[in-house]
Formats: sequence, C-alpha cells, structure tokens
Amino acid sequence: MQKSLTNASVLVTGGAGFVGSHLVDTLGATTDVTVLDDLSTGEAERVPPSARLVTGDVRDREFITEMVAETDVIFHQAGLVSVAQSTEVPYESHTVNATGTVNVLEAAREYDTRVVVASSAAVYGDPTYTPIDESHPLNPTSPYGLDKLTADHYCRLYHDLYGVETVALRYFNIFGPGQTAGDYAGVISVFIDQALSGEDITVHGDGEQTRDFVYVADVVQANRLAAETDSVGEAFNVGTGDSISVRELAEMVREITDANVDIIHTDPREGDIDHSVADISNARTHLEFDPTVSFRDGLERTIEWWESRTDTN
Ligand code: NAD
Repeated sequence: MQKSLTNASVLVTGGAGFVGSHLVDTLGATTDVTVLDDLSTGEAERVPPSARLVTGDVRDREFITEMVAETDVIFHQAGLVSVAQSTEVPYESHTVNATGTVNVLEAAREYDTRVVVASSAAVYGDPTYTPIDESHPLNPTSPYGLDKLTADHYCRLYHDLYGVETVALRYFNIFGPGQTAGDYAGVISVFIDQALSGEDITVHGDGEQTRDFVYVADVVQANRLAAETDSVGEAFNVGTGDSISVRELAEMVREITDANVDIIHTDPREGDIDHSVADISNARTHLEFDPTVSFRDGLERTIEWWESRTDTN
C-alpha cells in the first residue's frame, strides 16, 4: 500500500549525521520526527528543534523495538560508514551495519512499519562493467560492503517472507554541506579542506579514476520517494548517472576556492576502483527519482558551507 509522509510519524536512525540531518531538515513541522542516534559521528546540534533526539544504539534490539512502536516510516541511515574503519574492526561493522539493520527490520515486522534503508554502491565491489545497474554482480571487497549487502538482502527477504514494506537505496558517492573532513571523509571534503587551508591538493594515483558524485539533496529526494512508493521489496541505485574524474574534481575545487595551491599526485590507494558510475534507470522509472543539482552547483554550495564554517572558527 502506498504511504504518505504527510502527518506521518517518522523515525530517522542516524539523523544526527550527514545524510540523516539533511533528511530531517526537509521533513518539517507537518511530520512527527524522532531521531535515533548514538552520536558516535553525528552531532546533536544538527538535529533541528522540530525533531526529537533520542540517544541510543541500533545494536540494542529492545530499545529499537520500543522506538519503532507507533512509527509509520523508518529511514534507517545509522551505520559505521567508513570502509577503512570496517577493515580494522569488521566485527563492529557487522554488528552495526548488518545486525543493526535486522533489529530495525524485526521491529518493522512487529509494527507493520515501512523501512527505507541506506545501502551502498559498495555492495557491487569492483565493477565488471559500467554504468552499474542493480543486476551487476555483487562482490563486495570490504566488511562494510559485505555488511551493507547483508542488510540490503535482508530488506528484500523481510518483504518477501513477511510482507514488510522495505526499500534499499544503494547510494553512490554523496557530497554536500555538513560532510566534514577527517581520516575517513570523502575525497571532496578532503580536497576542499586542503584548498581552503592553503595546502596542496593530494590526488592518489593519476587522478583518472572516476566517480558518480550525488548531491545530498538528491539523496534526500530519493529517500522521500522511497517512503511513498509502491515499488517495495526492491533495491535502487541512487547516483546521477554521470561521473567525473578525481583530477577534474581537484581542478574544479582549486578554481572555485581560488586557492593558490598545487595538485600533487601520490601513490595509488590500494584497492581503489578505477571507474564507478550508476545506472539510475530503475530509480527513475519506479521511484520517479530525478537528480536536480548539477555537480558544479553542488560543489559551489558545498564550498560556500565550508567557507562559512571557516569564517566562524
Ligand atoms: P554519518 O557518519 O554522517 O552518519 C551516520 C550516523 O549514524 C551518525 O550520526 C552516527 O552517529 C550514527 N550511528 C553510527 N553508529 C550508530 C549506532 N550503532 N547506533 C545509532 N546511531 C549510529 O554518515 P552518512 O554519510 O550520513 O551516511 C548515512 C548512511 O548512508 C550510512 O548508513 C552510510 O553507510 C550510507 N552511505 C553513505 C554514503 C556517503 O557517500 N556518505 C555512501 C553510501 C552509503
């Protein structure tokens, strides 16, 4: 049955994080919104006053069940997000990303709640062809990718076995305001941080690797559509269908920030894939997903946010 977000009671796990907080910002006052987050990487200040923040862990099954009661839609964004970290602590990645999702699905099964789950392009592993559609082989190369694949498959199974209304969204590389730098940050945040700090921009390898960078507002759009679609029990790619090389990205960051820095090349990163771009035909057809923010616009907005942060620090 098709659902509506208007006047719905919504739970956003990971709602104090990058994607989750953008989503919560758009849900506004007409929806009753609760954010569940353990604040491991998320920040309480990101949760707007219109939403209720409850601090807790998706690994705590009883607690999750309590939180899901009386909820119409769950946006499950909480996760241990770093591929590199998952390789250091695979057990933790498994319990948060896989078991945490099963906890959410179990509660959804009990209370007949729709669940939109943040999956990842990492489920595909090294692409054997591009653009990558949802039928591409699933060969994750990290604990993170395997745990996301487990979560993604569980979504389908909970739909097929128990009739739970699930949608898994396989995000490609997301960027936008609110994504910060750090050891595990996306390449865009790292380049902006370097350019604004007057440091040379470091590109791993020759920079010819390409990625499908999708602006966070478009990922929010995909989530909202998934909450209301009747195409449940499915997994959809969420990207733009376009790609850009890391070298081009570095040059664009330098140009927009007007930074007087060099672009230097370091050793290729082990395990880095060469080319990644999503085929988003299924999301276009079934969710009516239509990414609206061009890469350049998104990058300008992201850099503006970084500059405003730097000004206030
Ligand atoms: P983020 O780290 O900003 O957000 C994740 C949030 O989950 C944080 O607020 C964190 O505090 C919370 N969290 C972590 N472990 C938790 C736990 N055990 N219990 C409760 N809360 C917990 O990351 P993001 O970029 O906003 O990612 C959101 C989701 O999208 C994640 O599931 C991630 O795996 C997925 N994803 C992100 C990208 C990307 O490019 N950012 C790409 C593919 C998939």
